[in-house]
Order: sequence, then C-alpha cells, then structure tokens
Amino acid sequence: MARAPLIDGHGRTIGDLRLSVTDRCNFRCQYCMPAEGLPWLDREEVLHFEEIERLVALFAELGIRDVRLTGGEPLVRRDFPRLVSMLSPLVDDLAITTNGFLLERDAEALVRAGATRFNVSIDSLQRDRFFEMTRRDALPRVLKGLETLAAFPEAHPIKVNAVAVRGFTEQEALPFARFAREHPYQIRFIEFMPLDADRTWSPEQVLTGEELRAAIHAVYPLEPEPREAHATARVYRFADGQGHIGFINPVSEPFCGDCNRIRLTADGKLRTCLFSLNETDLRAPLRSGATDDELEQVIRDAVWRKELKHHVNDPGFIQPARSMSAIGG
Ligand code: SF4
Repeated sequence: MARAPLIDGHGRTIGDLRLSVTDRCNFRCQYCMPAEGLPWLDREEVLHFEEIERLVALFAELGIRDVRLTGGEPLVRRDFPRLVSMLSPLVDDLAITTNGFLLERDAEALVRAGATRFNVSIDSLQRDRFFEMTRRDALPRVLKGLETLAAFPEAHPIKVNAVAVRGFTEQEALPFARFAREHPYQIRFIEFMPLDADRTWSPEQVLTGEELRAAIHAVYPLEPEPREAHATARVYRFADGQGHIGFINPVSEPFCGDCNRIRLTADGKLRTCLFSLNETDLRAPLRSGATDDELEQVIRDAVWRKELKHHVNDPGFIQPARSMSAIGG
C-alpha cells in the first residue's frame, strides 16, 4: 500500500535510507574507532532480520526506494546474505558498503540475493600504509574480494571509497588515479568527518576534495560530470576517457541542500542527519506492538524535524555522541 511521501520541514522529499545492520567491525580504522574497538551492542539490542524487513517494507511504502546496508561492517552480521534476500524484493536499489575483508567469501551470495550496488572502502593501495590506517594487514585479501565481486557483471558499477586524511592521503592520490584508470572501479575520496570515536578530529586534518582533484588533474586531466540530484560525490571523467574518479566533500563543499537521506541504526534509532544530535527510537514501539500506521506517524514527525544542514564548519559545532561505526556511512 502506497503512503504519502516523506517530506521534511524544508520541503525535501526523502528517498534514501542508510541502514546499519551491526555496530561491530573487524577493522580498526584510525579515523573511526580506537585500536581496542568499542563496547558492542548486545545481540538483543540489535534489530532482528524480521524487524528490519518490516521497517524497510514500511519505508518503501513511504517512497524510500533506495536502501544502503552499512555497519560497522555489515558482512560480519551472521547470515547477512539472507537479510539481503529478504530486503531486495522490497526496494528498487539495495546497496552495500563494506570493507571488503569478507567479500571473497560472500560476493556471489550477495549478488544472488539481489544486492545491486557495492561500495568497498580502501584507504591505501600500499600494504603497509593500509595496515597503518586500518590496523589490519588485509589489503591483499580485500583486493581479492574486490576482484571476486568484479567478476559479476550485475555488481557493477563498483565504487571504491578512500577516506582522505591530511598527512596520509596525499601519497595515495596518484596511485588511486592510476587504479581508477586501469580497473573497472570508480574511486571516490571522502573527506574526513568529525565522527571518530576518539574525538580527535580537527579541521586541519581535512584534506579537501579540491586539493586531491588538483593534484590528480595536474597529471591526469579531469573534466567534470554533471551532478546528479541528491548526489554526494562530485564526479570527474579522465579527459582521455580512461575512467572516472569522484570526490565526496561534506566538510569543504557540503551537499545538504538537496539531501534526501535518513538513517536507521543497528539498534533501531532513526537519525535524520549524519550529524544529528537527536534520535527517534523505532525499536521500542516496534517491540511493543505498534501498528504500521503508528510507526508511520513516529517516522513522519521525526522527518519533519530533519536538520537543514550540518554545522561542522560553524562555531560551536557539537560532534554527535554516536561515532561513525555506530551510525553507518
Ligand atoms: S550532513 Fe546531514 S543534511 Fe547534510 S548531506 Fe549529510 S545527512 Fe544530509
């Protein structure tokens, strides 16, 4: 049954849900969590597959046809491909963001289950530097997983996301540009955001997309592609036709104006912005017998209060209590 679309208080229609299926991760990326990890949610706190399925079905009735499954690391959730097969019939586009460590094992099952888009996070193409950033000596395995996924035509286009951190990523710009030119993947650099659990982020650590673009353009000339509505990335094609590369610049060039995204955390909290300081609990009403109409009202009220934009560059910016691994990208 179709319901009226979800519109926020600024007239934006919501069409994209980022859904975290777990807060757990098998990596320890420096820009995300401490080496020792974080206190994980208890299993009972995490939404069950059937609860996720019910909420995604309701969101689909509310016009959300694009869903991205994230974590932590979604592939560490037991039986994850089964969840994908439960959700894929409900939406038009079911994307997955993964660190690729378990991709060689799960790629075929995820593609067969109906996942349509994949983003694989790789911050360096050099083994020692990959280890330095993720605290895992896993680059060969991740690249093998990427290769395994790339063998499925229906998995393309595959995006490779690299978090850009000043003092680290400058050395990655050209290796990734060459990687984009030589492989069927679209590389995208993402500016480091203040969502780290260590809470050590500072504006000085942000290596901007423009700086990376200029460094690459100087060697491999780039030409801009038109920006798609609601897009987070600014995409460029190599002038000689050798592929594409993108830059996601939430700090230096925010894209909040036509944001159509909301998020659901693994423990059932609705976040209307990546940087929300408030959350709306859907798990409690869900587990206490709320009807879909009642849940719809809770969702609609929360979306109406969706933030116009983030305040990362504003004096007095407050970093959310929840870190990236507990929100999901
Ligand atoms: S920061 Fe918030 S409002 Fe801006 S694009 Fe991200 S989710 Fe949307």
